[in-house]
Amino acid sequence: MPTICLFTRDLRVHDQPVLRGAAEGAEDGQVVPLFVVDDAMRGFRVPNRARFLAESLADLDAGLRAAGARLVVRWGDVVEEVRTLAGEVGASAVHVAGDVSAYAGRRRKALEKALGDDDRELVVHDAVVTVVSPGTVTPTSGDHFKIFTPYHRKWADVETREPLDPPTDLTLPTKVRAGSVPEAEDLADGDTAPGLMPGGEGAARERLQDWLDHIDDYAEGQDLPARDATSRLSPYLHFGCVSPTEIARRAGTSSEAAAQFVRQLAWRDFHHQTLAAVPRASAEDYRDRGDRWRRDDEEFAAWAEGRTGVPIVDAGMRQLHHEGWMHNRLRLITGSFLAKSLYLDWRLGARHFLDHLVDGDVANNQMNWQWVAGTGTDTRPNRVLNPITQAKRYDPDGEYVRHWVPELAELEGARIHEPWKQSGEFDYPAPVVDLDEAGSAFRAARGA
Ligand SMILES: Cc1cc2nc3c(=O)[nH]c(=O)nc-3n(C[C@H](O)[C@H](O)[C@H](O)COP(=O)(O)OP(=O)(O)OC[C@H]3O[C@@H](n4cnc5c(N)ncnc54)[C@H](O)[C@@H]3O)c2cc1C
Repeated sequence: MPTICLFTRDLRVHDQPVLRGAAEGAEDGQVVPLFVVDDAMRGFRVPNRARFLAESLADLDAGLRAAGARLVVRWGDVVEEVRTLAGEVGASAVHVAGDVSAYAGRRRKALEKALGDDDRELVVHDAVVTVVSPGTVTPTSGDHFKIFTPYHRKWADVETREPLDPPTDLTLPTKVRAGSVPEAEDLADGDTAPGLMPGGEGAARERLQDWLDHIDDYAEGQDLPARDATSRLSPYLHFGCVSPTEIARRAGTSSEAAAQFVRQLAWRDFHHQTLAAVPRASAEDYRDRGDRWRRDDEEFAAWAEGRTGVPIVDAGMRQLHHEGWMHNRLRLITGSFLAKSLYLDWRLGARHFLDHLVDGDVANNQMNWQWVAGTGTDTRPNRVLNPITQAKRYDPDGEYVRHWVPELAELEGARIHEPWKQSGEFDYPAPVVDLDEAGSAFRAARGA
């Protein structure tokens, strides 16, 4: 009997345990590689991710064709579509990757029930979306780690698999109607960021190779946004165009730079295990600090549109809009500015990021926002990042800000970070907030 490989956010053929499992469980290599354009995900399909997804699906289809099959596409309710197709082809089992969000949990249960009622099996594969699956390493007491360092220690000791080769001998059951792979416009309305990265496994593998050739810059350059010395693999990891296990193994830990980079993959897994254990943390404070967030639509709009009058903050927000991506240091600075300097609800910022980030990811985005807001796993929840100090440390010559805030380009060196202290007239607003007063007000609100 054939099997179904249900792709979700593991859109690749290399190191793909779900596809491998489906092929091994099928008779005569008869596998239906399926992607369902899920109605329930409509709100999450914003233009940037829609384009990336469409490109990734097209590339996945090409990879599957090279292996002898092709991608089958359905639209609607994922459970109904899988069940119907399983009935049509007489599948013995459906294979899928384990995932962490509340929605993924509900989907898994509903699939298990629907398929079970028809005497079919749901096979869930771990270590597909992350290097180490939630629950694989746990503290001596409790179901998940709440602090990164001890998690990382155990994480680094987990033995990972040798990356799997792509399959070469798949066949699609003859009676299956494939359906067409969606275009970006079919998935979401609206304009995409002009500097958006291309989607797909091919682009992911090229980027990975290029990154491994330059990884040594990471040790010194990872926190300097003007150097652009991070991997930019995050959207490919989000959609699973490349396997995190393969990345970790190919990067290795032999150099300081490689070890630092692989540590970031552990951060990713850490946030995934946190969300898996506490799914409500996608919307509710992981740790309630008794916050009574301010409400100010104008300040929020100034932040979102990159016109707060604080150049480093505005530069980050403008990069987000131009590329659908933002450097990690800027995510920290802009996030802290919203949640701590303006004391506006982190959920507003998280939603705005999800609306634009091509790597927008419930686990990484929500848990990082909570970390930044001091409601998450940060062990120093009340510290406030001063954006000017940050700017001088991480953009010492003002190069990053000069690129994104050209109105201030004539200000030389670090002077660009404090235009209000410089003589001259600029077409640039005054800061929306007094940073020192804002920091004190936040600490007072937290009782710190
Ligand atoms: C407020 C805020 C929101 C964020 N939202 C997201 C998001 O929606 N999606 C997302 O993938 N990352 C998010 N991050 C984490 C991080 O900023 C990005 O993963 C990183 O900037 C991606 O760039 P890169 O691939 O060049 O990273 P690299 O430095 O090259 O790191 C390699 C990989 O490690 C992972 N990683 C790195 N830093 C982190 C981190 N702090 N937490 C979790 N994983 C990490 C990513 O998968 C990344 O691709 C957020 C961080 C903050 C502070």
